[in-house]
Amino acid sequence: MKRALVTGGSGGIGAAICRRLAADGHHVIVHANRGSERAQALVDEIVAGGGSAEAVAFDVTERAATSAALERLLEAGTIQILVNNAGIHADAVFPGMSAEQWHSVVDVSLNGFFNVTQPLTLPMIRTRWGRIVNISSVAAVAGNRGQVNYSAAKGALHAATKSLALEVASRGITVNAVAPGIIETGMIEGSFDADAIKKLVPMQRAGKPEEVADLVAFLTSDRAAYISGQIVSINGAMI
Ligand code: NAP
Repeated sequence: MKRALVTGGSGGIGAAICRRLAADGHHVIVHANRGSERAQALVDEIVAGGGSAEAVAFDVTERAATSAALERLLEAGTIQILVNNAGIHADAVFPGMSAEQWHSVVDVSLNGFFNVTQPLTLPMIRTRWGRIVNISSVAAVAGNRGQVNYSAAKGALHAATKSLALEVASRGITVNAVAPGIIETGMIEGSFDADAIKKLVPMQRAGKPEEVADLVAFLTSDRAAYISGQIVSINGAMI
């Protein structure tokens, strides 16, 4: 049984990924920031269904707290599957974007990637098997008005994905990014109504968190051993 950490497991896409990885037989560490109760409820659900899971909470922007939490988790065994899924958006057209909006988004998606991934990499290398999946966005592939901060953070994640993939390729570790389009979660509530989705998405519907989770599950499986350094879009043919 492999140990899998899913950051933002308390959120919409993260929860679907946790359920799917647990169904695949992994021990899932459901991470939350403010939503510890949601993470614990998901752990209870997974365990009640015969799976294996535990909850953990920390703010990925806080390096020391993140390192301390990861150190405790590593005491129980190496984390060989990491899904960097925690993310926020703080949209504004660029002339009106505050420094706080810029930094908060970069802090969670990009600095959070560093804070979580860097301490886990060497232990993963030692086992000669690992899977890292970074959840980015169509905004990093195509750009999006009002999301210069978000697309910059996610685009940097694409570049980091490619560089880290090169560094660890010979150690049995793959590193990929999954770039979702519009997915039905709390994050898009209030941003897109049904008409907007029909105009933006050739498939005329939002994606489901479970559809993203299926892709992540494949990329974290043995079957995807030769796929690394890739940005895989899942967006209903948006681009
Ligand atoms: P969500 O439901 O809002 O979940 C976001 C998750 O990120 C939550 O679990 C939240 O934890 C966690 N998080 C936020 N700030 C954090 C911090 N400082 N430290 C640790 N965790 C933090 O959003 P979602 O739609 O599932 O999004 C998941 C990922 O997919 C994000 O990276 C997002 O950018 C990406 N994405 C989403 C869409 C979409 O249409 N939904 C499209 C493209 C990409 P708490 O709730 O516990 O605080």
